[in-house]
Amino acid sequence: MTPVSYLRASSAADAIAKLASDGHRALGGGTNLVDLMRKGVEAPSVLVDVSGLPDAIEEAADGGMMIGAAARNSAVAAHPMIRTRYPMLARAILAGASTQIRNMATMGGNLLQRTRCLYFADAAGSRCNKRAPGSGCDARGGFVRYNAILGGSPACIAAHPSDMAVALVALDARVHLASAGGTRVVPLTEFYRLPGDTPELETVLEPGEMIVAIELPPSELAARSAYRKVRDRASYAFALVSVAAGIVLDGDRIVDVRLGLGGVAPKPWRAVKAEAALRGELATPQAFAAAAAAELADAAPLPGNAFKVALAQRTLVAVLTELSGVRA
Ligand SMILES: Cc1cc2nc3c(=O)[nH]c(=O)nc-3n(C[C@H](O)[C@H](O)[C@H](O)COP(=O)(O)OP(=O)(O)OC[C@H]3O[C@@H](n4cnc5c(N)ncnc54)[C@H](O)[C@@H]3O)c2cc1C
Ligand code: SF4
Repeated sequence: MTPVSYLRASSAADAIAKLASDGHRALGGGTNLVDLMRKGVEAPSVLVDVSGLPDAIEEAADGGMMIGAAARNSAVAAHPMIRTRYPMLARAILAGASTQIRNMATMGGNLLQRTRCLYFADAAGSRCNKRAPGSGCDARGGFVRYNAILGGSPACIAAHPSDMAVALVALDARVHLASAGGTRVVPLTEFYRLPGDTPELETVLEPGEMIVAIELPPSELAARSAYRKVRDRASYAFALVSVAAGIVLDGDRIVDVRLGLGGVAPKPWRAVKAEAALRGELATPQAFAAAAAAELADAAPLPGNAFKVALAQRTLVAVLTELSGVRA
């Protein structure tokens, strides 16, 4: 690890001023960034510790909630209003990492954690277009069990690793950003970029810009919602496939539905095709299966992760069946 300086931000304005210089990076809980610095993947010259900035979890004037970017993952998952109003978010957070990591990890850091593609982390031995643009991609032809089947490009098929972000895209969350140039609010569905031919650009975050808060709009869907994660081990493993779902029913008819998929794409994947196929339909196993097939129709797996297509479809159907109380 190369020498690095450490500065502690005393306020958002102080952090923004410090992050304006080249090589300065925000430090949340450090559970991802420091790990990647040890591996030689990340090499900031100055760490600006933002973990002491606002971490409040509060009701917003419109009935939604505002969560400070420095709020710890465990505090958000345990918050009574998150647990009752946004249960899929609490469950998604608790499905990730371990208690110790969730106690350290911040909301901002969780959203900006890097992919777990094995070749990305292997700075000494593997080619990776995300780490070194134009160098090639050793995942193709390699071990792709955890890589993407939707939204990838010839340059990169890394999967986004965050469980929490999958629930947040399904909840229509927005991120509040700040920089020396001002503030802006971006829907999380527009915050992440697909790799295209610039896989090193993962979000729309500008240099020197930071996440200051996450906004959850009020949501009728959130009350009848779920998060299910399928993984190789019962705990402490990233998702092969995950599903965040919220549904509003009028009798047996689907009035509204929001669906997020994890483990299958370079960003937390909002399943808009499945949602469109389900709105207004009767909640039946056939409708769920048709919607899941529509969403996965564009999947482009490799032999090593082709199993994810059927796994994602089955998991979507299972979660929708459970949420709507329909007999399979
Ligand atoms: C063994 C292990 C298992 C894990 N399993 C899972 C899992 O199953 N599911 C899952 O979702 N996650 C998992 N994780 C990842 C974990 O959730 C992340 O490491 C954590 O959420 C990152 O948060 P942090 O605050 O520590 O981020 P940091 O490591 O501090 O930062 C991560 C990135 O975010 C940037 N950043 C931090 N805060 C801000 C801000 N406010 N504004 C702008 N940029 C910011 C940093 O510069 C850095 O680029 C696992 C991690 C480990 C080590
Ligand atoms: S899939 Fe993406 S992150 Fe993985 S090696 Fe290829 S370019 Fe790098």
